[in-house]
Amino acid sequence: MIKNQANCSDLNEPDLITVTTALKKILSQIKPLHQHQRINLEQARGRTLSQSIIAPFNVPPHRNSAVDGYAINSTDLPKPDHLVELSIAGCAYAGQPFTDALAPGECIRIMTGAPVPEGLTIVIMQEQVEHFENHIRIDHNHRLHQNIRQAGEDIAQGSPVLLAGKLLTPADIGVLASLGLTEINVNRKLRIAIASTGDELHSLGSELPHGGIYDSNTHTLQASLDRPDITVVNLGILDDNPASLQHCFEESAQHYDLIISTGGVSVGDADHTREALRALGTVEFWKVAIKPGRPLAFGCVNKTPFFGLPGNPVAVLVTFYQFVLPAIDQLIGITDRPVCPTFTAISTEAIRKRPGRTEIQRGIISQDPNGHWQVKTTGQQGSGILRSMSLANAFIILAHNQGPVSAGDPVTVQPFSGLL
Ligand code: AMP
Ligand code: MG
Repeated sequence: MIKNQANCSDLNEPDLITVTTALKKILSQIKPLHQHQRINLEQARGRTLSQSIIAPFNVPPHRNSAVDGYAINSTDLPKPDHLVELSIAGCAYAGQPFTDALAPGECIRIMTGAPVPEGLTIVIMQEQVEHFENHIRIDHNHRLHQNIRQAGEDIAQGSPVLLAGKLLTPADIGVLASLGLTEINVNRKLRIAIASTGDELHSLGSELPHGGIYDSNTHTLQASLDRPDITVVNLGILDDNPASLQHCFEESAQHYDLIISTGGVSVGDADHTREALRALGTVEFWKVAIKPGRPLAFGCVNKTPFFGLPGNPVAVLVTFYQFVLPAIDQLIGITDRPVCPTFTAISTEAIRKRPGRTEIQRGIISQDPNGHWQVKTTGQQGSGILRSMSLANAFIILAHNQGPVSAGDPVTVQPFSGLL
């Protein structure tokens, strides 16, 4: 009788590690680059601050009106149940302050954003006064400081506004602009090399011979890495040849901060990536209890981290999001990025699942007529079926110890919108 060797569907292999352990091992190996550059604000979206920003002055710099109306002195308010008339001494526009002194019984017309003159402590919305040609009539129903934005109420001078490690969003760019900053210090761009391995692979534009397929993985990866903080170099297709893989990886380690290859990490006769990695450096692990994506090698060539992702196109994307993206964040030095939420949705169908590995299925989330989130799978979940990713708008994450899902059960989903 033939005794089965441990293979990819065996959940009891000793060197098979959980997703959590794999991620921990990766992050414990990766050191932030700590190299900075100075860039213009125009180039800052999607970059990460290398230095915290301390507000050089108050924003807004002056007290100003939050509404269109009239600025008055609180001593001119009438007694309860009385009315008073105030004469209009002038007008303050945003950008055109009113600077004359006011006598008792005088007010000014004021527009949103206009500085509130010294001594005036109440702004009344124009809808709440009776307006005559040169004066207004008001009642007593007004509070001190109402409708006045205080100096520094957005950002106080000397306060830390944005901290080092913040991935800059459009709102952050606006905040930096409001502080008058035209240049900022950010972490330098990450240089990443990507390559596909496989003798069956052909570049776009070439004729496909019998048995050949087009290389899609480097294109998926290149698109996934198309970000302002990354320079990606596509090394193209590498042969299933141990010597040429070694040569390419060794060379790349000298020029790039991270190397990502796909294919050749399993146990087939043409799978040489892992051996190349072992010959050049360290292999931290190469088998993770995740489906798809079990054969996944991580290690270092000299000091350069290396991901040997699986060849199957869906497994490439799943492992990229789960393992490579967090590693990239850590390398660049991103400690604060917009959250990528996971939440619970009701599965509209039964899903087969074995405890003992994390399964990441492709799903379509939608709201039922009552507004509750539900999810269905995209159908066939084979790791070579790239359309399952293209049709999906979310991952369905079935946890390591979870068993089968029945229709109507809650499952964890992660919308792609937070990942892309
Ligand atoms: P491997 O991990 O090298 O055994 O590849 C697993 C499967 O993924 C095989 O069917 C390969 O043909 C396919 N594959 C590997 N690399 C690519 C690629 N770059 N583009 C498309 N399919 C690929
Ligand atoms: Mg291969």
